[in-house]
Amino acid sequence: MFRETLALQQPVVYQILDNALKKESLSHCYLFAGTRGTLKQETAFLLAQSVICSHKTDGWACEECLECIRVKDNNYVDLIYLDGSKGLLKIEHINTIQNQFSQTAVEAAGKKVFIINDCENMTLKAANSLLKFIEEPSDNVTGIFITSQIDRLLPTIVSRCQKVSFKPLPKTMYYDFAIENGIDELNSHLLSQMVQDRDQLLEISQQESYQNAVRTFVEFMNYFFRNKKTAITYLENNAFASGQSDRKNDRDSFQYFLNIANIFTDDYHNNKSVDDDSWTDLLEKAHDNDFDSVRFLTAVSQARDALIRSANLSLVIDQLLYRISGGDN
Ligand SMILES: [Zn+2]
Repeated sequence: MFRETLALQQPVVYQILDNALKKESLSHCYLFAGTRGTLKQETAFLLAQSVICSHKTDGWACEECLECIRVKDNNYVDLIYLDGSKGLLKIEHINTIQNQFSQTAVEAAGKKVFIINDCENMTLKAANSLLKFIEEPSDNVTGIFITSQIDRLLPTIVSRCQKVSFKPLPKTMYYDFAIENGIDELNSHLLSQMVQDRDQLLEISQQESYQNAVRTFVEFMNYFFRNKKTAITYLENNAFASGQSDRKNDRDSFQYFLNIANIFTDDYHNNKSVDDDSWTDLLEKAHDNDFDSVRFLTAVSQARDALIRSANLSLVIDQLLYRISGGDN
């Protein structure tokens, strides 16, 4: 049941909705705001179900009856779902809501719900038309707006909705999600620190540029603890050197490399244990070799800044190598 997940992952959101549902005092209009991948959409559909379901417990939908299933599948006549992530929302889309909702409800529940995902992606005309619509609320209509960029919304729309803020989910949740999806220990550990979104996690895990970065980092550090010169030669010549043929890929990969370097230093500082032999081995080598983690971390963050400014990837890599080896190579 999604209700339990919501209570666990977004307790504040759950509390707000729980109060309103129990007291049957829902707002006419909600604005679900928060970064991507924070369960906003799932919550919007649960709220719609809770408005419509005729088998509620404590105001919440049963999530199992035919009505609930039809709402979830977006196959319920008195539910309109618009998705700004699929393209710019125009005035015609808003008119659809207005026209349909000016008529009597078709379904037995007599309630109407509209959900607008990525609602910031709307023309000004559409937004103004929507504003007029929500300024004249009707008792049996509930609107739910979803956004990950609240600053792109008309302030007048924001002020007319009850704002509900969704917090980024804890890293452990992404870790569990990665493991559940068959990703190995090390990559689940790394990816869970790098993403803010479950779709993004799966996407990056598949990218060649990411996989190359992990391999390269582990290999580079192995050389590094043995012989800095070899490590430098390795990174200069092999790792991010597909050159003109795939420059973007090289840059992405190097960016991931820097992220991984950050996580490594973090693990080293916090004596974290990761259930992966190659990673544990590296951490042990770091301890044995009096790893200068402060110098390393400083060099990594300088490289990150430099990467944004500079078009010359190999120059950024050279500077990084010079700094982490302390210029004594
Ligand atoms: Zn139900």
